[in-house]
Amino acid sequence: MRAVAVRRGESGPQLVDVPKPDPESGEALVRTLRVGIDGTDHEVIEGTHGGFPDGSDYQILGHEAVGVVADPNGTRFEAGDLVVPTVRRPAGEPNDYFARGEPDVAPDGTYLERGIVGAHGYMAEFFTSPAEFLVPVPDEFSETGFLVEPVSNSEKAIEYADASRSPFEWQPKSALVLGNGPLGLLTLAMLVNRDDFERTYCLGRRDRPDPTIDIIEELGATYVDSRETSVSEVANVHEPMDFVYEATGYAPHSFETIRALAPNGVAALLGIPGDHMFEIDGGDLHRELVLQNKALLGSVNSNVRHFEAAKESLAAFPDWFTEKLVTGVYPPENAEKAFETGDGVIKTVVEFDTL
Ligand code: NDP
Ligand code: ZN
Repeated sequence: MRAVAVRRGESGPQLVDVPKPDPESGEALVRTLRVGIDGTDHEVIEGTHGGFPDGSDYQILGHEAVGVVADPNGTRFEAGDLVVPTVRRPAGEPNDYFARGEPDVAPDGTYLERGIVGAHGYMAEFFTSPAEFLVPVPDEFSETGFLVEPVSNSEKAIEYADASRSPFEWQPKSALVLGNGPLGLLTLAMLVNRDDFERTYCLGRRDRPDPTIDIIEELGATYVDSRETSVSEVANVHEPMDFVYEATGYAPHSFETIRALAPNGVAALLGIPGDHMFEIDGGDLHRELVLQNKALLGSVNSNVRHFEAAKESLAAFPDWFTEKLVTGVYPPENAEKAFETGDGVIKTVVEFDTL
């Protein structure tokens, strides 16, 4: 079958011919429809994140997928069911985190990640998965369902942020998303749909005209250019933010965010930066966090509960939003094109089949 993979020693995606997988007991065979691409895939290709499956000289890419059950193989599914797979799998014997359905908080080394850490991804005509890691989705998700995975990461981060403010009467009104990449824009669309956030902002560093700024404004949010207004200045120039969601991966933002927050505010950090040395006034920021009851939290990956929540968020997005967000749909033969980046590119997908 056709698959898009990176080979050891190479740093570009390529179409490969690999054996069609056979489902083991407890696994279903899924016919892939679409697989989304994000920054993590680029890091996997460059070799800066994740790693090859043991004993394999190639890794099939992709961790954001939607597909159709082709062979339920005795699992709870029926042939034709539309499903979205989760990403983490046990490395060896499943530990308690997997048993509780919370692999997203499992320690490093106890899990693999499909398409990222030590396991093949979904960018192939077929993939297999244990049934418990397949989330059923409605048929109208056949084109957009690959967005359930990235949205689920934000569901988790927002759940954690809300939980951190749950001991008191928190009434957030303002929210700022740092980053106008796909994760930032998806999260902005989620926050705009909430009843509580009356004012939303999204920070980038692009000149107009730009398709991401168009999306930000069409969602009803305010675009903040970090070259004009730094994160530290946002509270003065606009307003103090009850919630900040960091998706730039620019490490200084995680600390400057403390200044952007309103008293009792919370920030969720999602970006995954490389090593980055810089100077900050740690005393000032430490004092601010403590004296204003502010919270900073990190969040990675997600579990089935967050995938379920993401289905609702995705269903609530306006059609124009997903249409503008997805800037390219490519067949596997054109995968190289799907991995190209540029100012006009927001989110691309590789399409193997349609429903
Ligand atoms: P992108 O790299 O596509 O988006 C980052 C965006 O931030 C870009 O649009 C970039 O602008 C903007 N940006 C970067 N630095 C600045 C700055 N100094 N000022 C203003 N804007 C800036 O990544 P994604 O949207 O896919 O993901 C966001 C981050 O989240 C990444 O670090 C990724 O690794 C991480 N991630 C984390 C997950 C988790 O579970 N924790 C899950 C998925 C992703 P421009 O394009 O103009 O350069
Ligand atoms: Zn991802």
